[in-house]
Amino acid sequence: MTPLPKLRLYKYFTYIISLLFFSLWILLFFSGEISLPEFVSVFLGVALLLYIFHQGRAEIFNYYVPQQESIQESVNLLEGNLKKKNEILRELPQKAQRVFTLSKVIDSFTSLVEEDKIYEFFITSLKHFFSGADGILLFIFDPKENTLELTRSLKRKAIVIKEKKGDIIDWWVLRHNQSLIIENTTEDFRFDFFKSYAFKERGIHSFIISPISLGDKVVGVARIESVKKRAFSLDDLRILRIFCDVGASVLERASIFRQIKELATKDALTDLFLKNVFFQRIKEELKRARFNKTKLALGIVDIDDFKKINDTHGHAVGDMVLKQTAQILVNVIGNSGNMISRFGGEEFVFFVVRVDNKSAKEIARRIVQEIKQNPVTFRRKTIRCTASLGMVMYPDDAREYLELMEKADKLLYRAKEEGKDRVCLSF
Ligand code: GH3
Ligand code: MG
Ligand code: MG
Repeated sequence: MTPLPKLRLYKYFTYIISLLFFSLWILLFFSGEISLPEFVSVFLGVALLLYIFHQGRAEIFNYYVPQQESIQESVNLLEGNLKKKNEILRELPQKAQRVFTLSKVIDSFTSLVEEDKIYEFFITSLKHFFSGADGILLFIFDPKENTLELTRSLKRKAIVIKEKKGDIIDWWVLRHNQSLIIENTTEDFRFDFFKSYAFKERGIHSFIISPISLGDKVVGVARIESVKKRAFSLDDLRILRIFCDVGASVLERASIFRQIKELATKDALTDLFLKNVFFQRIKEELKRARFNKTKLALGIVDIDDFKKINDTHGHAVGDMVLKQTAQILVNVIGNSGNMISRFGGEEFVFFVVRVDNKSAKEIARRIVQEIKQNPVTFRRKTIRCTASLGMVMYPDDAREYLELMEKADKLLYRAKEEGKDRVCLSF
């Protein structure tokens, strides 16, 4: 835009014309062409006209110049706005594409219910969004241990990420439940980046970090990093935050799902499987044993005089004895393929797969011995207890699980009759 012409030129033009006119007039007067009154009256008349013209011009000047300046200001403002709008318009297709992808990703995200799959999806989707990033780290918070665990990570090169328990910035984000953008580690004095592995070892210069939180409850931290300075914008941070918010609710739902599932399959006190799960599993295991021609030992353990423990020391001590017995059973046989179940009260049923008579005998003996040798301590009192055990063997004693259970129960009964604190085997 060119500025309006200045009035100064007209001013000089007027002065020159006036000067010429007066010179001519004085010349005419001195040459005797005109009389003195004529000279004076015309001289004054023209001077008056020039004065009026000059005043008028000044008024016009004073009137138009401010107007011209304010128009210029408005034009500049409009130009600035137009420039901004053009920039927005230019970025619009890219932004729309991002929002579209984001909504699609969130759709798939919310259909997941297993924690492992959620972590995997989380990190691969972030990679899709932040394809220019040099590293993506996903930390999950363990409130019991008060630790951050690097659960998933993606990086450009084959390098080792050393901050497995989180760096200063991750802990800051976790504690404040606030997202963070760091544009240049060497210019940011909020954190001591010279101690940070990301900067020290990987030369990271910019980050965006967000808590994965639901209200006040923070379940983790997601970090995107780049070796470049100012690699991320506030828009990027906003997208990461949306991701993390959705991720937090998906993770919360998964945790509730897991708890409900456990409630239906596990005993709350001992964390052992319930009867229905045991029946389902033993059927499968017997099929497998039949196919592989292997043996399977089935045992029933019952704590001796448990009612007396409850009556003497209280129900809470009884619960401690039950937990302890469950732990012993897990320690002795709780590995691959075997299964332990609380059948109700102080009775536990278990099976051991791919076993021979000798090792089954040894397992039964160890269970009873460990229960006896590990008393429960409560208020400085030592509460001792014993257990009885009946055990049978597939396929020697029976081929169906109900028959195996019946026979094991009879042997348990015999162990009780013979004086408790003992093992009764069919083999
Ligand atoms: P035996 O040596 O013949 O097995 O006698 P026992 O006293 O161990 O067996 P009994 O069946 O007479 O008593 C079992 C008791 O276990 C009765 C019940 O109150 C108690 N019990 C059942 N479930 C629980 C539980 O979850 N916690 C506690 N503390 N006690 C329980
Ligand atoms: Mg008992
Ligand atoms: Mg009993």
